[in-house]
Amino acid sequence: MFDVIIIGGGIGGSASALRAAQNGMNTLWILGSKKNRKRSRSQWVMNLDNIVGFHEDIIKNQAIKTLKKHKQNEAIAYLENEHYHINNRMLIQNTIQRIEKGFPNMTLLEKEVFQLEKTESGFIIELEEEKYEGKSVILSTGVMDEQPHILKQNKKGEWEETPKWIYPFANREQVLYCIRCEGHLTSDDSVAVIGHSNVAAELAMMLHERYKNKSYILSNGHEVEISEDRIAILEKYGVEIIFEPIKGLMSEGVKQLYGFEFELHESVNVKFGLVSLGLHRVYNDLAQQLNARLMDEKQAKEKRHVWINHKGETSIKGLFAVGDMAKREDEPMMKQVYTAQEYAVRAVDTIDYRRRKLMRKNI
Ligand SMILES: Cc1cc2nc3c(=O)[nH]c(=O)nc-3n(C[C@H](O)[C@H](O)[C@H](O)COP(=O)(O)OP(=O)(O)OC[C@H]3O[C@@H](n4cnc5c(N)ncnc54)[C@H](O)[C@@H]3O)c2cc1C
Repeated sequence: MFDVIIIGGGIGGSASALRAAQNGMNTLWILGSKKNRKRSRSQWVMNLDNIVGFHEDIIKNQAIKTLKKHKQNEAIAYLENEHYHINNRMLIQNTIQRIEKGFPNMTLLEKEVFQLEKTESGFIIELEEEKYEGKSVILSTGVMDEQPHILKQNKKGEWEETPKWIYPFANREQVLYCIRCEGHLTSDDSVAVIGHSNVAAELAMMLHERYKNKSYILSNGHEVEISEDRIAILEKYGVEIIFEPIKGLMSEGVKQLYGFEFELHESVNVKFGLVSLGLHRVYNDLAQQLNARLMDEKQAKEKRHVWINHKGETSIKGLFAVGDMAKREDEPMMKQVYTAQEYAVRAVDTIDYRRRKLMRKNI
């Protein structure tokens, strides 16, 4: 019987696992299988630079100090000229390493959970071949963004409509998904928001107000559902809405995006794309198995966030949800690294508080 079972090997799972390890809790951390890791948004983050403390200069400055002490001028020059990306995979790998090195109270498994069951004393989780029992469970199984399908000619000259055309640019932070994370990269540049809703309009307005961008909204053939008052502001800001389906990306190989093409409309030159198509999926299957309350009633079930209170607990006592998959009623959607971490710490500390309260009661 574990004190807590954490399901998910992204940022929410990592932050929960580290907190539980440091709290001395007997913990099982299920990271997900190699196959289902593709579901993880964490795998897509190439460079984190919106968070205080996550910056290459912290380590660089320490290393340079040491090298200066030992008069290693050549090495200092190398280091000064190097750029170190900090990405989510590194954070997760580092958390695993720290936990494996220093915390015997933790068990880690790279597997997928298929079934979650409530019992009188807690929960049972089922993997492919084994079952485990825990007093509490934290879900951090994440969400996946909807991707734009773009028509483009493949190497054989055939027209192919697929989201894969944009992946190389997403990997190079030229096609973006999160204005709070990456919006600042677009400062004073041109951006195409790919979307057709009021949210896409809000993003285009925000880009203009914050970064003075020249922006477009590309509805990619979808019906545009933007309110009249927003349309009026977009016009004032010089944001053009292009209704035609995108027919080709303009780029320098897969290295540098420089625009989008259409059949009739003239092509637009932009340095960035910003995807605003909502979510493809909230991985809420395990929460659904227990009939945990979901948010966003108007959405399809597989797109609904898991309702949580301010401690991160779902409507099922002892079942918590953190990270991108979870939503509180009292705040807007929070889907960043630091929010996943904050949710995780609240959830684990709540479980720990109850665990310790019980210890005292038993005395
Ligand atoms: C392109 C992109 C760039 C971003 N850039 C930034 C940024 O610069 N700064 C920032 O703050 N945020 C950024 N974000 C947001 C950030 O990545 C997410 O908020 C964060 O990764 C969410 O972590 P999570 O734990 O909720 O989910 P995820 O990272 O998606 O992890 C989900 C995990 O659950 C596992 N899993 C799923 N189902 C199961 C199951 N049944 N059994 C076991 N395991 C399962 C998966 O394998 C995966 O490991 C970005 C997001 C994207 C898409």
